[in-house]
Amino acid sequence: MSTETRLSTDRRMAARPDTVAVHAAREDLAASGVHVPPIDLSTTYPLPDVEAGGDAYERLATGGTLVEGDSPVYQRLWNPTVARLERAVAGLEGTDEAVAFGSGMAALSATLLAAVAAGRPHVVAVRPLYGGTDHVLATGLLGTRVSWAEPDEVAGALQPDTGLVVLETPANPTLQLVDIAAVAEQAGSVPVLVDNTFATPVLQRPAEHGARLVLHSATKFLGGHGDVMAGLVATDGEWATRVRGVRALTGGLLHPLAAYQTHRGLQTLPVRVRAQSDHAQVVAHWLQRHPRVSAVHYPGLPGTDPRGLVGTQLAGTGAVLAFDVGSYAAAATVARSTRLVTHAVSLGGVDTLIQHPASLTHRPVAPEARPAASVLRLSVGLEDPADVVDDLATALAALD
Ligand SMILES: *Cc1c(COP(=O)(O)O)cnc(C)c1O
Repeated sequence: MSTETRLSTDRRMAARPDTVAVHAAREDLAASGVHVPPIDLSTTYPLPDVEAGGDAYERLATGGTLVEGDSPVYQRLWNPTVARLERAVAGLEGTDEAVAFGSGMAALSATLLAAVAAGRPHVVAVRPLYGGTDHVLATGLLGTRVSWAEPDEVAGALQPDTGLVVLETPANPTLQLVDIAAVAEQAGSVPVLVDNTFATPVLQRPAEHGARLVLHSATKFLGGHGDVMAGLVATDGEWATRVRGVRALTGGLLHPLAAYQTHRGLQTLPVRVRAQSDHAQVVAHWLQRHPRVSAVHYPGLPGTDPRGLVGTQLAGTGAVLAFDVGSYAAAATVARSTRLVTHAVSLGGVDTLIQHPASLTHRPVAPEARPAASVLRLSVGLEDPADVVDDLATALAALD
């Protein structure tokens, strides 16, 4: 992973990733006499004259970016607060641009629609994926067709109209690791989309390994506090124009207040992700030795990473793990018996959450690809890990 990235294309300042997280897309603030970004809530903007307004409308409605001196015209086409967040996320992922949406699923949907619009509706997808992603691909709701493939079967699954290869690593909820560069090589000229929600750019920057599109549910780690819903696609200029064009037409935009909160969340992202990963390691090792736990799925544990991706593709082990308690009944008992740990879906926040993927996040997945009913997923937060362990000990004791 490169240690330096450009903080701002204007000032060409090189900075290390932690510095980028704190300062990205804030470089103009001091000059305007403020310390935090202003929030622009305008739904419409004054137009200089009919001709210039029409030109700006044309440019933005077809996915272009705001040109210096242009009117943003209308919030669905452009918003400066949202654009600030997009610049910051592009800086962290090392891509040219990023496009923000009202949720991770809105970001994914816009990307799938852009592939359909380009006449390439076939998708090759590597399971396991987030349940919503699996569901939208399996139903073909947005006009895509899917072929499911193992990571080493991607080349053989490509068709003349394949528009995207979709994968997730670490995957949800098995924490299986996929070699992004190996899949990108098989995909050839077909763009690879990597869902980077679990790793975040702190631990993994898929664009450096050949991914052309990087998806985030910013609802999770990027926001980080369970109080903002957002999604982003980080990509190159060509794809950014396509997905922005879809956003302008279909309206899955991010609200500026949510953009502000997400941008603020980025400032603590590196320290949160590193601390939560350290805590998850403590919890994973403790669970591994517990007599009621038959298996722990976590990239840090021996035997979970045959391709040696931890330390090369993935600079850490992450804050999410899954563990097997032997049966559905046992999983249901544990989920209902925690006190400190909240039984709730979602992940990546400062507090620890537990949930049952087969009943909840992965409920829509076809039975053959659904996670085992005996598995629980844990997103480890910033609490003292000893307290999380104590709480899990009490919950597991309910099985005795
Ligand atoms: C939550 C999640 C999504 C969907 O994001 P929303 O913000 O809930 O729409 C996609 N991928 C992964 C890995 C997720 O965890």
